[in-house]
Amino acid sequence: MVDFEAIRAQFPILDQKIHGHPLVYLDSAATSQKPQCVIDAESEFYRTINAGVHRGAHELAALSTEAFEQARAKVAALVGANSAEGEEEIVVTGGATAGLNLLATAIGNASLGRGGEAARRFAVKPGDEIVVSEAEHHSVLLPFQELAARTGATFKWLGLTEDGRVRTDDLDEVITERTKVVAITHVGNTTGAITNIAPIIRRAHEVGAVFILDACQSVPHLKVDFHALDVDFAAWSAHKMYGPTGVGFLYGKRELLEALPPANFGGSMVELAWMDKPAQYMEPPARFEAGTQPVAQVVAAGVAAEWLMNIGMENLEDHEKAIAAELLKLGDIDGIRILGPRENVDRIGTVAFDVKGVHPHDVGQFIDAQGIAIRVGHHCAQPVHRHFGLFASNRASSGIYNSVDDAKALIEAVSKVRAFFRAE
Ligand code: PMP
Repeated sequence: MVDFEAIRAQFPILDQKIHGHPLVYLDSAATSQKPQCVIDAESEFYRTINAGVHRGAHELAALSTEAFEQARAKVAALVGANSAEGEEEIVVTGGATAGLNLLATAIGNASLGRGGEAARRFAVKPGDEIVVSEAEHHSVLLPFQELAARTGATFKWLGLTEDGRVRTDDLDEVITERTKVVAITHVGNTTGAITNIAPIIRRAHEVGAVFILDACQSVPHLKVDFHALDVDFAAWSAHKMYGPTGVGFLYGKRELLEALPPANFGGSMVELAWMDKPAQYMEPPARFEAGTQPVAQVVAAGVAAEWLMNIGMENLEDHEKAIAAELLKLGDIDGIRILGPRENVDRIGTVAFDVKGVHPHDVGQFIDAQGIAIRVGHHCAQPVHRHFGLFASNRASSGIYNSVDDAKALIEAVSKVRAFFRAE
């Protein structure tokens, strides 16, 4: 049995009062808090071995490189990716948004004929198709919409069921022989719904398309294995998985990373550079890691990955399932509508809700006054909100440190909102 109370005690930030109330943090979908071991790892790195990686002959540079590569291996282990030298499948990025833009740009470069013969499998031509879903965060929607605009491809999407799940009943019509790229979220950041990705991946591969997974909201909550899922690429951020801000990771099947042209150019990604002919780029992952890397943050993210593996993602899933069950009782309150599946099946503890007659910012402030942190707004997912006939909503989202009591505290606070604002 994992002692989740002891785990909560590892988060110093939670040990404080907000407006006189003990802090209840229910905004982990935006960013998670950090355990002491992650905070320590970052400062320890700066205290003892701070140096650039993969360059310099001095001892600190060697130690830094070793710590960086070990962190990459830990992150790879968390998601079932390869990390042996020459086989690496994890690229360090500035976050999920940076990783998704890197992919869209690299595919765009392949479409311009960059990257030679190997990269032709990624090339998108006018009249080809790029497919996303209506559940996407803007960090998927916009880079791939731009890619479609740049390449002349048709932009298409999988719609949503009434309760906000990505539809898979019309896959054959939406994903066709002309589809080159399919980019889909693993878990909706508004609905909390886990996408039924298996048939989408099968269909994408059947037509020869590349399948890209937005794993931002799955890696911190579920046991994921990218090999088993057979995704081609996946992007996520460290700051939502108890790691630092400013870094993220891009998984790619090794053979695909080897075939993909670079997207960012600069130091540390080139074997040979000349004035009068094109450069010769390094093998992945270095080819995609131009510039000085956020080494301290990557090292700390590695500690977060190891810490999660020690707790066991299955244990975390069970723990958060109980919190989700409690949060879903929000839907029983008069005037509250949940934007997403009501049943605690194939979903996580991210529950967005509308309070009839009360603006989300008013709800957020009322809840905050009681020490409870939730997110309000459109959560960078405007089409999802439009699907529900809204522009904004309130969102409670669980993390490893939450308890069923936290969800109960939220429910009690939310149940008073409409009376307070005299909402009809
Ligand atoms: N996709 C999803 C599903 C997300 O929840 C987020 C973060 N809100 C992102 C992408 C973008 O992540 P980041 O802002 O860390 O780059």
